[in-house]
Amino acid sequence: MFKRLGLFREGQATWLSGIDSKGSDCSIHVPQARDKVVLIHAWQRDAHCREMQHHEIALEWVPCHLGGQRPWFRCPVAACRRRVACIYYSPTGQWTCRCCQALVYETQYERPSFRLMSKGDKIRNRLGWGPGILRPPGDKPKYMHWRTFERLRIREQRIAQALARMILPQP
Ligand SMILES: [Zn+2]
Repeated sequence: MFKRLGLFREGQATWLSGIDSKGSDCSIHVPQARDKVVLIHAWQRDAHCREMQHHEIALEWVPCHLGGQRPWFRCPVAACRRRVACIYYSPTGQWTCRCCQALVYETQYERPSFRLMSKGDKIRNRLGWGPGILRPPGDKPKYMHWRTFERLRIREQRIAQALARMILPQP
């Protein structure tokens, strides 16, 4: 899903190539500079159109134990700026550190409704009802205490109601 760029040697241009999330070819060129790398992400949109994106990522050189220096990336996200060994390219077209990537990914794909659904499915699993929070409730499993059953049944019902308010058109 994500392309990953690890550290490289000074003065060495790196080409990475692969297939991006949309299945088109892309390549990334990393010309060297002391204080930053410029990533050129080029891909074929269709037979006629080639797209290009430039991203600058700041580098910081830190002395090694055994002498010499080694470059680290600074996460390009302004609120983060973590010093990291690897940066990742997300389907949203951003290079970020691993932590920020998780956030980018979550905000894009983990809408609140998906979170509710997976929460509901977990409860339905315990009840032996099978996944699908908007499907009707089932019976009490034989092995389960009534008190536990009631508690889970009510929780499942509340999640279903909250989800319905969120995704179904309201009267
Ligand atoms: Zn970051």
